Amino acid sequence: MPPLEFLSKGIYEAGFDAFAVMPAAPLEYMRAILRQAQRENRYPDFTDPDINKRTEPRALLNSALSVISLAVAYRTVEPGPTPPLHGSVSRSAWGIDYHRILNRRLDHLIVFLQKHFQVTEWAKAVDTSFLVDRALAVQAGLGYPGANCAVYVPPYGSWVFLGALLVNVELPRTEKKTENNWLQPIHCEGCVRACPTGALYAPGKIRPRRCISYLTQMSGEIPLEFREKIGTKLWGCDICQEASPVNKRAQLSRHKEFLPLSGTSLPLLPLLKMTNRQFKKEYGLTSMAWRGKNILQRNACIVLGNQGNPEAIPALKQTVENHPSPVVREAAAWALERIIL
Ligand code: SF4
Repeated sequence: MPPLEFLSKGIYEAGFDAFAVMPAAPLEYMRAILRQAQRENRYPDFTDPDINKRTEPRALLNSALSVISLAVAYRTVEPGPTPPLHGSVSRSAWGIDYHRILNRRLDHLIVFLQKHFQVTEWAKAVDTSFLVDRALAVQAGLGYPGANCAVYVPPYGSWVFLGALLVNVELPRTEKKTENNWLQPIHCEGCVRACPTGALYAPGKIRPRRCISYLTQMSGEIPLEFREKIGTKLWGCDICQEASPVNKRAQLSRHKEFLPLSGTSLPLLPLLKMTNRQFKKEYGLTSMAWRGKNILQRNACIVLGNQGNPEAIPALKQTVENHPSPVVREAAAWALERIIL
């Protein structure tokens, strides 16, 4: 079997759906994009401020010669409407935390590469690495950037988790369909029109601190100006991905791990009463758990306030009186005021 075909077989069997291989070269396009974001005060809070480092694969693995950019598809079922006293969860957090899954699959892939491609040094990059996984994916030719700032990997749309593996050997290169995926024209701007907070304000331009995905994960109090716009979103936001016609036709995932563990939306009143132990037991396997219980309870209060359902009043009153976190108490008081007044 030719080496590229053999590599492809190993990657698919390790549990990945698509991949592209590129030399471990600096990510020049992303460097320019991040510098512009920094100048315009749009640089994301959760990330390393060192742009050179974030766009230099060899900063993660000095001996890197190749980068394999990888994708795992996660579109499973379609979410129904959010019932009363429930909050919706982004598709990416329905199933088992993808960081766990991708890291485990990368471990399998490493064993395969050690055995068949003489790899002796490697580094994994799954979301929490300082490297920009989207930039690796586009530069390697795995996908192309959408107006909503997500990477589209045919035939899975932007419903993909991205990861990368840096290795110290020259692997067979994948063919690029276009010379430079960064320069692919963007034909649709439906996501920009759909974004409720104006976070996405032009194709490929985002103000991350206005994004509901960021707001539902940030610590502290959610700024008042965005609370109503959060609507029924308990965790994350898929609006700009759902707005994409390409994503409506996207191929479904073969991975059962990403099916909803507890539904596509969660009941808010039981969530408000949960102890840490109950929270861990109920949601500990999902990526929602990384911020802890209080952040989800704060978000639950915001959603209840937006829904205006009087059935939430007793639980919100109890939260105002008894919750140990001032941030959650404040959110509950805000919600109560909206329902009662
Ligand atoms: Fe806007 Fe939601 Fe997309 Fe964020 S995730 S840019 S809030 S539509």
